[in-house]
Amino acid sequence: MNGMMQAHGLNIADLIEFAARYHGDTEIVSRRVEGDLHRTNYAEILGRSKRVARALDSMGLAVGDRVGTLAWNGYRHFELYYGVSGSGRVLHTLNPRLHPDQIVWIINHADDHVLCFDMTFAPIVQAVASRCPRIRHWVALCDAGHIPVELQQAVPNLRSYEALLAGQNGDYAWPELEENAASSMCYTSGTTGNPKGVLYSHRSTVLHAYAIALPDAINLSARDAVLPVVPMFHVNAWGIPYAAALVGCKLVFPGPSLDGASLFSLMDAEGVTFAAGVPTIWLGLLNQMQQQARKPAALQRVLIGGSAAPASMIAAFQDGYGVEVRHAWGMTEMSPVGTVCTLKNKHLELPALQRMAVQTTQGRPIFGVELRVVDGDGKDLPCDGRSVGELLVKGPWIVEDYYQSGKPSPLRDGWFPTGDVVTIDPDGYVRIMDRSKDVIKSGGEWISSIDIENIAMAHPAVAMAACVAMPDAKWDERPLLVVVKKPGATVAQEELLAFYEGKVAKWWIPDGVRFVDAIPLGATGKILKNKLREQIQAAMV
Ligand code: ADP
Repeated sequence: MNGMMQAHGLNIADLIEFAARYHGDTEIVSRRVEGDLHRTNYAEILGRSKRVARALDSMGLAVGDRVGTLAWNGYRHFELYYGVSGSGRVLHTLNPRLHPDQIVWIINHADDHVLCFDMTFAPIVQAVASRCPRIRHWVALCDAGHIPVELQQAVPNLRSYEALLAGQNGDYAWPELEENAASSMCYTSGTTGNPKGVLYSHRSTVLHAYAIALPDAINLSARDAVLPVVPMFHVNAWGIPYAAALVGCKLVFPGPSLDGASLFSLMDAEGVTFAAGVPTIWLGLLNQMQQQARKPAALQRVLIGGSAAPASMIAAFQDGYGVEVRHAWGMTEMSPVGTVCTLKNKHLELPALQRMAVQTTQGRPIFGVELRVVDGDGKDLPCDGRSVGELLVKGPWIVEDYYQSGKPSPLRDGWFPTGDVVTIDPDGYVRIMDRSKDVIKSGGEWISSIDIENIAMAHPAVAMAACVAMPDAKWDERPLLVVVKKPGATVAQEELLAFYEGKVAKWWIPDGVRFVDAIPLGATGKILKNKLREQIQAAMV
């Protein structure tokens, strides 16, 4: 027997309709590429997203056609999120930090028909345009006056976004779409092999938005002012552009200005209560907070994810400034959020050190995400907080297959293998030890490079740390610590190694420290360990 409720499919356009109807005057503030601060609201965003939809109609784009973006976090990108997906096309956000050859490969693989870009990325567009023959229109996200003549001459079919929108009227009815229809796509950064396309649906996106807004996830309400530092060009800014419309909160977009001083002043001036980003971003903000001896006035909590948040960073926010840290884990294939770390009542009475031990885990699953940890043969391991194995996940916003990869689905018996090596405790708190390709196995036992890095980061002389496996005749592999010192700081290998005593088992302590000027980072800000290992090995011969 079927239930007798309305079969109303989930649809991204409904989010912006809702926000415009009930929170129409709530502000959307953007630091623009043009340099100024721009203010709009949900009501105006709805009107302009409808113009985007009409513009795509006028270009002859069919339902399901891909529209690429190379853009910062800002109101125009936000309009594209709704105008493109709401009209049944697929928003394909591209990561401008990738190499131009990879951008060309991804544009052609996704078969993008239109490419919208911020003027910052005009040099990329100029470099790739002739190699992307299927793009019918290049759209500069500015008014016609901001497009230089040379660019106009170099890129055929170049249009101004503002001129395009001015030519449309905002009277538009969103099409009825099947809830499993594709809405947006994002490619993984492809540190090994070609990038892989993850194709999200209206259903997966709206369910994910509901889930991340929950109190034990990021706890969003209409009273928040949210600043996503995490880019809209990678995994939909962790879903915040959708969850914000779902609750009707104020949005503050930082544009290209992501340094600590710019973020601090924008947060301070706009009453930002919640912000989300990767650890390296927070180092810059914390530095600024230290200089000003205060936090941005209204800041209550930050979400840290993408890489592990060190205990020293969590403590700096919480103990130094009363800003609550929520540590989160996820991946492109998971829309991206899988787990968020919030404490339970039983943790509140714990001594500070034990409470911090919980907070440095990547947290527990939000409803909708199922977890398992398995050994090398795929057999379940106990969730005892000690047994180490690969994490498998399952749920309605987790990938089933990659877009036209030409390979079988990555799923194993319906579960997606994350490639993360973890422990899970009885309450479901996940501790990520490593990526499986980066693990260190010494004498047959795991050493968590993330733990080793986090401890190093607590040393006052360390700006950045990476721990990698080095081949070892006796133990197979041993950890080596690679460190970038803070400007002007001095510290010797012996002092850093002594810093580990009493903090980890003796055999976890790295065999040596290498001081370097820089550690290679990928397009999403993560340490490229394979490249680092190659660099070290090359320096050794
Ligand atoms: P890519 O950078 O390859 O596109 P994602 O941005 O999807 O991939 O990153 C996913 C990976 O990032 C996870 O599988 C995990 O290894 C790592 N990661 C994400 N959040 C955390 C975290 N809080 N702590 C440690 N690792 C994390």
